[in-house]
Amino acid sequence: MNEHNGSPAAEVELDALVVGAGITGIYQLYRLREHGFTVKALEAGGGVGGTWYWNRYPGCRFDSESYSYGYFFSPELRDEWTWSEEFAGQPETERYLNFAVDRLGLRPYIEFDARVASAEFSEEQSRWLVTTTAGAVYRARFLITAVGLLSAPVFPAAPGLEEYRGESYHTALWPAAPVDFKGKRVAVVGTGSSGVQIIPFVARDASELTVFQRTANWCTPINNRPISSEKAERIRARFDELHELCLSTPAGFIHRPRDLAAFEVSDADRTAWFQRLYDEPGLTMVMNNFRDITTDAAANAAVTDFIRAKIRERVQDPAVAEMLIPDDHTYGMKRPPLENGYYEVFNQDNVELVSLREEPIERFTPTGLATTRREMDFDMIVLATGFEAATGSLTRMDIRGSGGRELGDHWEAGPRTHLGLQAAGFPNLFIVGGPQSTTGNIPRATEIQADLVTRLLTFMTEQGHSVVTTSREAEDTWIDIVADSVRGTVLENARSWAFGSNIDGKKRAYLLWSGGIPAYRERCEEAFADGFRGFVFG
Ligand SMILES: Cc1cc2nc3c(=O)[nH]c(=O)nc-3n(C[C@H](O)[C@H](O)[C@H](O)COP(=O)(O)OP(=O)(O)OC[C@H]3O[C@@H](n4cnc5c(N)ncnc54)[C@H](O)[C@@H]3O)c2cc1C
Repeated sequence: MNEHNGSPAAEVELDALVVGAGITGIYQLYRLREHGFTVKALEAGGGVGGTWYWNRYPGCRFDSESYSYGYFFSPELRDEWTWSEEFAGQPETERYLNFAVDRLGLRPYIEFDARVASAEFSEEQSRWLVTTTAGAVYRARFLITAVGLLSAPVFPAAPGLEEYRGESYHTALWPAAPVDFKGKRVAVVGTGSSGVQIIPFVARDASELTVFQRTANWCTPINNRPISSEKAERIRARFDELHELCLSTPAGFIHRPRDLAAFEVSDADRTAWFQRLYDEPGLTMVMNNFRDITTDAAANAAVTDFIRAKIRERVQDPAVAEMLIPDDHTYGMKRPPLENGYYEVFNQDNVELVSLREEPIERFTPTGLATTRREMDFDMIVLATGFEAATGSLTRMDIRGSGGRELGDHWEAGPRTHLGLQAAGFPNLFIVGGPQSTTGNIPRATEIQADLVTRLLTFMTEQGHSVVTTSREAEDTWIDIVADSVRGTVLENARSWAFGSNIDGKKRAYLLWSGGIPAYRERCEEAFADGFRGFVFG
């Protein structure tokens, strides 16, 4: 193998190229190297971490329990790393991933500031030719994307942002240098998970904060707390057991739904359970609730009513409280944000809430922005406007398979994959952590995929196969299975990023898999055991 010598003109020949050095790409790189493949990772950012490298905004933190999110495969990482909080903040997670990369000796195999511009499959050579924006060229038998589910930032559709002369930041492209809100008039656009996390920090320091809300969300308290040294030891002692627990629950968390249905208990017991979950750390309200809260309308209404009452209790101005109560979805239809003092922000005199449904932003101006009703001046605009989920980072690269067909064209009517791993007409391309694959506590989902890819590549090498692809029939089967996974749940009718609804003009298609981690794993194992059903070797 030729090692890359750093020159943009160099051409590097590899067994496999991984795109992305977030928690998924790092693991994929590790596994492939462990199995003897020559492999490198290309990373657009200047460091490792993916989500935890880019989202440096104040308040950015896990909603997964820290120890359930980190890697489980390595005794070294287990013994040498201790999480400080139940829900670690961004700096700690970025530190963890840097620690992991160094401890596993992976840093020499990652190229930073290397954004893949295009990737083209050469049928003659059975190789992917990958070019970065800086002009470096890589030639690899296998191309594995680990470019993230929530990594392609979206900006507001309103024009004029480039003319705005104040400070402006997207939460997902936050600078490393501190940003000072003190004494400033700040606009925050967006009240999804990132908006809900950053808003209390802006409200604390800004002289005036105007929050622009398109869609209200059902937020519940994170109830974060430090991890004591005794608990850290208990976690270490139960490490393998915790991993198995995560892999056995629907969403890969340490929580599982109760065996009980919501109306199998008395009204008082039901409310007491909701209150208990409201006071507990993390996503227990959605993960550890009655088993039917997302499948039974009455159960779903009960939990929604409970959280609605909480918002009314916490927000003093009844009109503002009503604005903060979602009217287009019920609890559990979307991944609910976790908050710390979010609702109380709207009791502060320096905070105003503006509904973008009532007065959309028409344009940005040199001094602020104009809605359909008024012009407003701001010293800073913070865009917490989210991501083009699942497909965004893939279709923003120019990936061309057989016959020069572009992946974006192949997915014009929505993503098409077999098991979320391969797309027909894109030989030797593997997608890890992309559309139509299992989600939840993401590393628990993507480690399954990275292991499957490693097994497949090993099998091919052993059998002397040079090319693998999938068929349109296999894609069609998987599309039906994915659609079934969400049918009959409250998620089915959500207007959320999981359906691409946050992107104007994007065709509605379910981008995830809702059947849970155990069922996803089972289906993949079945296909692999059945002679790699759905994969075509050549
Ligand atoms: C603010 C925030 C909080 C979150 N909290 C949680 C949580 O608590 N629990 C949870 O399970 N999930 C959470 N998520 C989801 C999170 O994205 C995943 O947990 C996880 O980080 C995904 O890891 P990944 O490696 O697959 O992708 P990412 O971490 O997104 O990494 C992908 C990498 O690919 C790189 N890349 C993309 N395109 C290119 C290109 N063309 N060329 C080169 N490199 C490229 C990117 O720069 C990035 O570094 C959160 C997401 C956000 C945005």
